[in-house]
Amino acid sequence: MDFEHSEEERLFRAAARDFVGSEVIPHAAQWEEEARFPWDTWRQLAELGLCGMSLPAEYGGGGGGKTMLCIATEELAYGSAGLAVAFLVSCGIAMDGICKHGTEEQKNEYIPRCAGGEIAFFALTEPGGGSDVGPMQTRYRPTEDGYSLAGTKTFITNGEESSFGVVLATRAPGAGHRGISAFVIDKDAPGLSTGKKEKKTGQHCSSTTEIVMDDCVIPQQGLLGKEGHGLRIALEAIDRSRVAIAAQALGIARAAYDESVRYAKERQAFGKALGQLQAIQWMIADMSTELEAARLLTYSAASLIDHGDLAIRESAMAKLYASEAAGRICHRAVQIFGGYGYSRDTPVERFSRDQRVTEIYEGTSEMQRWAIARQVLGMK
Ligand SMILES: Cc1cc2nc3c(=O)[nH]c(=O)nc-3n(C[C@H](O)[C@H](O)[C@H](O)COP(=O)(O)OP(=O)(O)OC[C@H]3O[C@@H](n4cnc5c(N)ncnc54)[C@H](O)[C@@H]3O)c2cc1C
Repeated sequence: MDFEHSEEERLFRAAARDFVGSEVIPHAAQWEEEARFPWDTWRQLAELGLCGMSLPAEYGGGGGGKTMLCIATEELAYGSAGLAVAFLVSCGIAMDGICKHGTEEQKNEYIPRCAGGEIAFFALTEPGGGSDVGPMQTRYRPTEDGYSLAGTKTFITNGEESSFGVVLATRAPGAGHRGISAFVIDKDAPGLSTGKKEKKTGQHCSSTTEIVMDDCVIPQQGLLGKEGHGLRIALEAIDRSRVAIAAQALGIARAAYDESVRYAKERQAFGKALGQLQAIQWMIADMSTELEAARLLTYSAASLIDHGDLAIRESAMAKLYASEAAGRICHRAVQIFGGYGYSRDTPVERFSRDQRVTEIYEGTSEMQRWAIARQVLGMK
């Protein structure tokens, strides 16, 4: 397989990198301090075509696929992991089910809205469980002309900024996987509200909130795919989207690595640059090697998905490896910076906080290992 980017992908990466250099990096620390979503920057992203770039061209997207989504995510995460997660959830996992299983009406409605800069959410996790979603409590019941939903989703990215999203609900708790259906819901639907906002370790400019539904009434056209197919739609969306978390981890890790290399050349100790000390050289060598391995796993999985393969094993390996490698890389970056690495005056402490959750969301590392082992062992 050819892991090199095409000319179009290289040009796209260069343009995204320029944008992040001028519009994201200078402001990212302040967005975090103020826990403020950068709406102006987001609108610029939409105007540049980034929000629609990976969505189908026949509905107003750019038709770019997963590799383009990963390139954009990696570049954004290099500057702001919070902005990157808002992007990859809205333009990735939240739109996956709509693009693959939506009716013509749903595609014509929601794909242009996302491409135009409206933000979407994906609501699967509940207070009772994220890894095991079988015992789901959020219920739906058919009404005369639609559905009514009741329940609370938790840890929902873009909870505040979004204007629509996908919600998973069961027709009865205990009905099992076949009882679960997916719905596309506008945020102004009666009975829907944004609940508690999480106080997180990092990625503060991206909101993570509850989505609360109290007799939330939606029309019949809100059903996504067939009734009872919701869990399959959600799990496939996660399978196709988790590689974007690998790309996010890669972007954070590359930022930590670049800062470390720069600092190792500048900072003096015992009459020489840190980079002349073997202990530091070994850290830089390991960081460089792990970064390259993460890059290869990420873009080979993205390429497989773009060629129509669900690539469950490959994207789980990419997410597992890239997120954990990013953890080791950020840890070493803090070490190389010494005391300054523990200060908010340098960016590496932010990178190490932002990285941590890449090992948790869209399937924890344990769930990735489980998925990989099941694929290897041929288990259903
Ligand atoms: C910042 C942030 C943003 C998020 N955004 C979204 C979002 O937009 N939409 C959404 O739906 N969810 C979102 N989540 C939720 C996230 O996907 C879940 O937190 C994650 O799937 C883990 O679920 P949990 O927190 O319930 O942990 P649990 O499932 O309770 O797991 C706890 C621990 O047990 C381990 N564990 C569980 N089962 C097994 C097993 N079978 N084998 C081995 N170990 C196991 C886990 O790996 C973990 O270490 C977000 C979370 C965070 C922190």
